[in-house]
Amino acid sequence: MEQLGLFATPRRLFTCTPSKLGSYEDCPRRYRFTYVDRPAPPKGPPWAHNSLGASVHTALKNWYALEPERRTTAALPKLLKATWVREGYRDEEQEREVYRRALAWLESYVDGLDPHEEPLGVERTVATRTETLALSGRVDRIDQRGDELVIVDYKTGRWRPSEDDARGSRALALYAIAAARQFRKACRRVELHHLPTGSVAAFEHTDESLARHLRRAEETAADIVAAEESTEFPTAAGAQCSWCDYRGVCPAGKEFSARAPWEAVSSSG
Ligand code: SF4
Repeated sequence: MEQLGLFATPRRLFTCTPSKLGSYEDCPRRYRFTYVDRPAPPKGPPWAHNSLGASVHTALKNWYALEPERRTTAALPKLLKATWVREGYRDEEQEREVYRRALAWLESYVDGLDPHEEPLGVERTVATRTETLALSGRVDRIDQRGDELVIVDYKTGRWRPSEDDARGSRALALYAIAAARQFRKACRRVELHHLPTGSVAAFEHTDESLARHLRRAEETAADIVAAEESTEFPTAAGAQCSWCDYRGVCPAGKEFSARAPWEAVSSSG
């Protein structure tokens, strides 16, 4: 009798992070430049807004690494300075101005935190598997509130996120699924903490809304596998090209004007 199942070749899982999936959805060609082409094509210069985001995230991570008694606003200037990323700014004057801005955001944010409240995780990697995906990603913060977990994501961009952004974020939903499985606790609430305004955009997921995000992630992964087999990665040119690292090597992107690396942090913009 034919033996089925037991000795069948296991299906290979598609290994990914939410940002890898998002990169393909934004522009398949950019996905190819980032994840497929080797050697990868040269990127444009570093962006100041990425430097700013990284600096603020690291300062918050290191603030939580302090003993609770030392988690004060007074600790912030040293923390921010120690891991400040300098790349992408127009000049030192702009960099200093943005540093002061970032410090003010952090001071007012930290002022609203209870230093004795220990998050379950800070910059914590979570991972899970489905029938077709091996998913992982790093969460800015996982809070435990009552019996439930909450996914917290820090935002430092100009634009203030809305509840729709929290609901629509694939990354946050996938983190919630992975955290719930990993820590065996319910995790439905996802929050975007916007440091520049101190606002919080939150959404409470349901089983259905989480399942929908997971299904879409699996669909995108299937599209990527098909694209890799056919080696077709079409361009998705649009306004995003102006901010794309690969604009310099992508003929479709050249039709959109280049942005200065510091434009998104400019106080006059
Ligand atoms: S420049 Fe535009 S079309 Fe080209 S890879 Fe980047 S986002 Fe895609």
